[in-house]
Amino acid sequence: MLTIDGSFGEGGGQILRSAITLAVVTGRPCQIDKIRARRPKSGLMRQHLTAVQAAARICDAQLNGAAIGSARLTFEPQAVRAGEYEFSVGTAGSTTLVLQTVLLPLLTAGEPSRIVLQGGTHNPFAPPFDFLEKTWLPFINRMGPTVRARLERPGFYPAGGGRLVVEIEPADRLHGFELLERGAPTQRNARAVVANLPRHIAERETALIRQRLDWPAESVQIEELSDPPGPGNVVMISLGYEHVTEVFTAFGERTRSAEAVADDAVRQCRAYLTHSAPAGEHLTDQLLLPLAVAGAGAFRSTGLSPHAETNLHVIRQFLDVPITTAPDATGGVRVQIG
Ligand code: AMP
Repeated sequence: MLTIDGSFGEGGGQILRSAITLAVVTGRPCQIDKIRARRPKSGLMRQHLTAVQAAARICDAQLNGAAIGSARLTFEPQAVRAGEYEFSVGTAGSTTLVLQTVLLPLLTAGEPSRIVLQGGTHNPFAPPFDFLEKTWLPFINRMGPTVRARLERPGFYPAGGGRLVVEIEPADRLHGFELLERGAPTQRNARAVVANLPRHIAERETALIRQRLDWPAESVQIEELSDPPGPGNVVMISLGYEHVTEVFTAFGERTRSAEAVADDAVRQCRAYLTHSAPAGEHLTDQLLLPLAVAGAGAFRSTGLSPHAETNLHVIRQFLDVPITTAPDATGGVRVQIG
């Protein structure tokens, strides 16, 4: 059985999720030790447990150590079964991270699948639904399968209550791709969402974004929601190009002014604009696994974070595919798979 050290490098939840996904895809049993050892509350949290249990459901895996707080887990997968699944994180834990854990094996599972996920859809430290839909899924769809994700109800930390529905048409196999240039700009947009909070928060956020980026009124939108069960505020700035769309996200918190929230998203957006590479920090993280499973592809990244380096380390333990990373002339990194 392959043993994965959960404390390696960045020591977070990604090691666990990548290992579980790769165990299902390759059919190799694995044991993960020292789970999330470098996080303040180490071990399996509700969201990680849901991801592990979801992965076990789609392949009838034998699980040991699957409990809240557990620092060690063994996972013995069997064949993947396409089908209808419903996974509820039970708290505001991220539904998109649970989806990313089970999606890859279902992309080549022979039959279509439909997944309903309940929990948080816009969480700090996780891909918000908009990033999943606009940034990441277009690349998954470029690889052969057709995946459609629909946000039925947003869910914010801490109340959760969000719901998303994902339909998967599998492909015979996954094809790699190259993402070396952004291409021409096609659209830009900023959205400030307030759920059960005063509208002026979103007004101040969009005003700051317009002023800092010098954008016209038609490039910003305000969305007021009352269907999520609790309060929430998120700002998302999206930059669309021919070959990639990036989404930069910042979350409102009780101790943070609306201006500070908007400024955070603007800073991320500006940092991306100073580069020419198409894949930003989070997209870089999230392209590694699908391209490694496809066994082919290349992309240019604005830089490899410790998070991405850690992810690469896990991938290399499961897959034999060569992955090289090299600085390019523009100050970014070229990642070559296969
Ligand atoms: P971890 O912290 O190890 O549980 O992993 C978090 C995952 O969420 C990584 O794949 C990150 O790239 C991703 N992530 C975190 N924040 C964002 C964001 N604002 N937009 C997109 N993805 C994100």
